[in-house]
Amino acid sequence: MTARLLSGKPIADRVAARSKERNEALKRRGITPRLAIISVGTDPAASSYAGRLIKGAKGMGIEVADVTMPREITEQELRDRLDAVSRDRTVHGMLLLTPLPGALDELHVVDHITVEKDVEGMNPFSMGLLVDGRPKFIPSTAEAIVEMLRYYDIPLRGAHTVILGRSTVIGRPVASLLLEEDATITITHSRTVGLESLTRGADVVVVGVGKAGLIRGEMLKPGAVVIDAGINVTPTGIVGDVDTESVSAVASALSPVPGGVGAVTTALLLRNVITATEEQT
Ligand code: NAP
Repeated sequence: MTARLLSGKPIADRVAARSKERNEALKRRGITPRLAIISVGTDPAASSYAGRLIKGAKGMGIEVADVTMPREITEQELRDRLDAVSRDRTVHGMLLLTPLPGALDELHVVDHITVEKDVEGMNPFSMGLLVDGRPKFIPSTAEAIVEMLRYYDIPLRGAHTVILGRSTVIGRPVASLLLEEDATITITHSRTVGLESLTRGADVVVVGVGKAGLIRGEMLKPGAVVIDAGINVTPTGIVGDVDTESVSAVASALSPVPGGVGAVTTALLLRNVITATEEQT
């Protein structure tokens, strides 16, 4: 078997085309959406994500305010800055780039991203709405993963889905979204015992860990669908968490890295900026 490649491009293009139309309607009312990207220090992966967002925003007519803070700032200073951006009426969406450097704890600062502008669904209130089955803004990587499964008509009702990773940006929100699709979910993490026996029973495997080559073909049931959200920078370029060669020989479908989840993620985040702008104006 050679796995079908699930490209993110047609989904990203469709989302972007619809966002452009909605943005044109805003423009006719004299409104320009504005996204504040808040970063602390310079993490290379976060900077490259910010670069892709800025490029995508430009193409869509969304303004970006770059709020860069030095890595030496205190947690209180960061909270104060997030409060200030939350109050700034010229900003419609805000995104805090992670990981945060040093002793700054993401869990203690995201409460200061106001829910109306929380386009990446980082505030615990946004997460609570998602878990409650009435989402407002959803972490964009998680939504991208589920959009890919929907777009390619992967059967989800009753499907046993194993998720690798339990972070608030991938594992947890993906589990909430797939429960709404009537999938049966197993969430795994670094302390999981017997990972392979779990993945071998899965119809769908979603991996977002950050370890190149973690999923190999022999860990899968023949015909399984694999969505790879991992991003690993290697000397030969960017790769996901999947050993592509062995997985392609066993899986029926696989999302590539690059060219899979990442492109959809950016498009959905920018769409959320448009939604936030519509709601605030
Ligand atoms: P994170 O917060 O470090 O979470 C990684 C998760 O993987 C943790 O829950 C960890 O378990 C779990 N894990 C570690 N080893 C494991 C194993 N052997 N089996 C199962 N789970 C294991 O990272 P993140 O922010 O979620 O990002 C994860 C990956 O996704 C990274 O490669 C990142 O670059 C990528 N990413 C991609 C996008 C995109 O748009 N495509 C967006 C964001 C992130 P513990 O909780 O026990 O530590």
